Amino acid sequence: MPTLPIRIYPDPVLKQVAEKVTRFNDQLTSLANDMAETMYTARGIGLAANQVGVLQRIAIVDVGEEQNERIDLVNPEIVWKEGAVPSEEGCLSIPDYRETVRRNKEIVVQAQDTSGKEFELKAEGLLAICIQHEIDHLNGILFIDHLSRLKRELFKRWLKKRASED
Ligand code: ZN
Repeated sequence: MPTLPIRIYPDPVLKQVAEKVTRFNDQLTSLANDMAETMYTARGIGLAANQVGVLQRIAIVDVGEEQNERIDLVNPEIVWKEGAVPSEEGCLSIPDYRETVRRNKEIVVQAQDTSGKEFELKAEGLLAICIQHEIDHLNGILFIDHLSRLKRELFKRWLKKRASED
């Protein structure tokens, strides 16, 4: 399973909305496996297809400490949400930057696996946050898009500083 290059902000593909998956074939399975390998290698807990330059609605998450709680989410949709929690987040597409955003505390998500089988999942804590972050990616939204105006300004300054250091 090869790892895929991760697209880094401000790559425009990160701002695009991914399309619904309609073909459940070997190609989809190997994309999911390659994405998982890429995520584990980068020590991430979630990866959306946009982040490897593929505009298909598929995301991989694994919030387990042993990298053995992988969930493949194809065409995921949040059908119920409740509560609000502060969440300190980072993103493999925005290396070295972390900031706190607000997320729903609990969610119910409906999705398909890579064979097309539908399932429903209730999640809270880190898993709920991670799934919200990844579904955002599929909609072209980054966690920095949830920042307040002030924090957004600070992010832009951080970005400029970083660019001048390279
Ligand atoms: Zn991300």
